[in-house]
Amino acid sequence: MILVILGLTYFNRTSSTVEISQKKFEHMLAQGDVKAITIVNKRHVEVTLTPAAAKKDEYRELRERSPFAMGQQVPQYRFTLSGGEDLLIKKLDDIQKDVPARDRVEYRSEDRQDFNSIFFSSGFFILLLLGFYFVMRRMTGGGPGGQIFNIGKSKAAYYDAENKVKITFADVAGLDEAKQEIEEIVDFLRNPSKYTQLGGKIPKGALLVGPPGTGKTLLAKAVAGEAGVPFFSLSGSDFVEMFVGVGAARVRDLFKQAKEKAPCIVFIDEIDAIGRSRGRGQMPGANDERENTLNSLLVEMDGFGTDSGVIILAATNRPDVLDSALMRPGRFDRQISVDKPDILGREAIFKVHLKPLKLDASVDIKGLAAQTPGFAGAEIANVCNEAALIAARRDKKKVEMQDFQDAIDRVIGGIEKKNKIISPEEKKIVAYHEAGHAVAGWFSEHAEPLVKVSIVPRGVAALGYAQYLPREQFLYTTEQLLDDMCMTLGGRAAEDLVFGKVSTGALSDLERVTKMAYSIVSVYGMNDKIGNVSFYDSKRSDYMFEKPYSEATAELIDNEVKNMIDKVYVRTVKLLTDKREALEIIAQELLKKEIIFQNDLERILGKRPFEHQTTYQAYTNGRSNDKKDALTVEEKTGGAEEGPADEASKA
Ligand code: ADP
Ligand code: MG
Ligand code: ZN
Repeated sequence: MILVILGLTYFNRTSSTVEISQKKFEHMLAQGDVKAITIVNKRHVEVTLTPAAAKKDEYRELRERSPFAMGQQVPQYRFTLSGGEDLLIKKLDDIQKDVPARDRVEYRSEDRQDFNSIFFSSGFFILLLLGFYFVMRRMTGGGPGGQIFNIGKSKAAYYDAENKVKITFADVAGLDEAKQEIEEIVDFLRNPSKYTQLGGKIPKGALLVGPPGTGKTLLAKAVAGEAGVPFFSLSGSDFVEMFVGVGAARVRDLFKQAKEKAPCIVFIDEIDAIGRSRGRGQMPGANDERENTLNSLLVEMDGFGTDSGVIILAATNRPDVLDSALMRPGRFDRQISVDKPDILGREAIFKVHLKPLKLDASVDIKGLAAQTPGFAGAEIANVCNEAALIAARRDKKKVEMQDFQDAIDRVIGGIEKKNKIISPEEKKIVAYHEAGHAVAGWFSEHAEPLVKVSIVPRGVAALGYAQYLPREQFLYTTEQLLDDMCMTLGGRAAEDLVFGKVSTGALSDLERVTKMAYSIVSVYGMNDKIGNVSFYDSKRSDYMFEKPYSEATAELIDNEVKNMIDKVYVRTVKLLTDKREALEIIAQELLKKEIIFQNDLERILGKRPFEHQTTYQAYTNGRSNDKKDALTVEEKTGGAEEGPADEASKA
């Protein structure tokens, strides 16, 4: 900036000359006060006084106004040329005809760019350059020397023996298969000859696939901590920059660095940021830059041989959007699935995250694992942290089981709305609604077993919720799906049955049922009329709106869906009518205690009539008796106010 200001002053100097008339100039000239003149652009004339004249009182006013202008070489006056240049010269000769030649006024003629064009051609340009320079410095992270050329360098974090990650495999609970696979890969790097001497090739890459929060990043960090080889870690989005070609340059730079440090591991987290399949789900031509980056990644992965000692590890929770070229053998030849933990896995994860907490004796780890079906590691970590915070808020010395209960509720349903005003009417509707789910589920053979029902208002929308234990299974039969629908419709059916009218509280249930029904008919080919047809298209672009079937089929699908839901609904209403008494008891119990658990249901309804042991039962049955009692008591107090009454009813 200083440069620019200096520049402006310099060019501004001409404007400190004083404009005079040509008559005045002729007068000055006649007095012999003029030393030199310059005719600029044949339009005006700059006048420089002799040093002696400059000191005259006559010109003092000028001297005070502009110290600059008093310098020897600097013109003090200027005037606009009225006649031509020739006319002026003639006049000079006329006036000075008596002056000796050596004292005559020197004159030159000059072509000069005027102030504005000078400003724009140089000052403005400098300004632009400076601005650009500062912007680039900001973008490339500053530091000495401008860094402008570092933009194509990879931003990978680098770990080796001196600069170690503190996380070890012991911090990663469950995930035994994944850990084993990863350990094998690390072993490839440590002694490759063991594998190659039999002619085998070492895999180039492995892809960690799994839902969010299941510990993929954690596992990779543990590899960094334990592998004993250099480890580069970066995220897919680190390749992305607003400049064209930067992503590709960074990929090349990354691989260059990796080859120098081989044997080593490169970890690319959230690889879907660059690995999305090309030309899908976007406007044509929208994202060439990402495609270029992906292409250069593919090229680099092909470019190094299996003996180069670089293994690429990547993680994603969207394997479905990845480009198929990335997944082919020779690139990420191995896929390691990192799934949500089962009950044993959850117990192990709880153990890891409970370690730093001060625990009360009432805390039952197995009980916690049993109550958190469907939780990923991140949610479990969150529950443990919330429990500690809740206990601290209650000024406790140790974290008790009750704090964990509340933390679990909070993680599932959001913050408890203590002061959310619910009229007794509404509360009753919610209680019967949730009781309807519970009863319908209990007596439907294939429905998922219930873990607990709560009617404590939480969050924005949920007035109550029922939590089920998801079956650990991957194939569902029609019967199972229909039973699930029956359980889901149980809420609305109960309202209908008990109050003779329905409420808006069943919105999410109906949404779920509708989706399921449409999937059964049009995706899984489980409907007789439609037949073994699936309209699901795994390659479908997100921007495709056309239905892949005729209007007639659309109508048929809609009809079949409606029929199916109607049939299930009738069945649900019938079931609840038969079990009206049980519905009544559970609803009352809920109104009294707000939260009830599976063993409360068992107490009220008797053993579930369909005895195939669920993982949950096998697990809880295997527990020692006193432990079980501790859980039961705790669970009872989960029902709030009614502590002593619970003890009684349990006996
Ligand atoms: P993602 O699979 O989305 O990369 P992260 O690895 O980032 O998930 O996991 C987030 C957090 O959840 C971890 O920092 C850790 O605290 C916890 N976590 C997840 N899985 C596990 C696990 N198997 N064992 C212990 N903690 C876990
Ligand atoms: Mg992650
Ligand atoms: Zn419901």
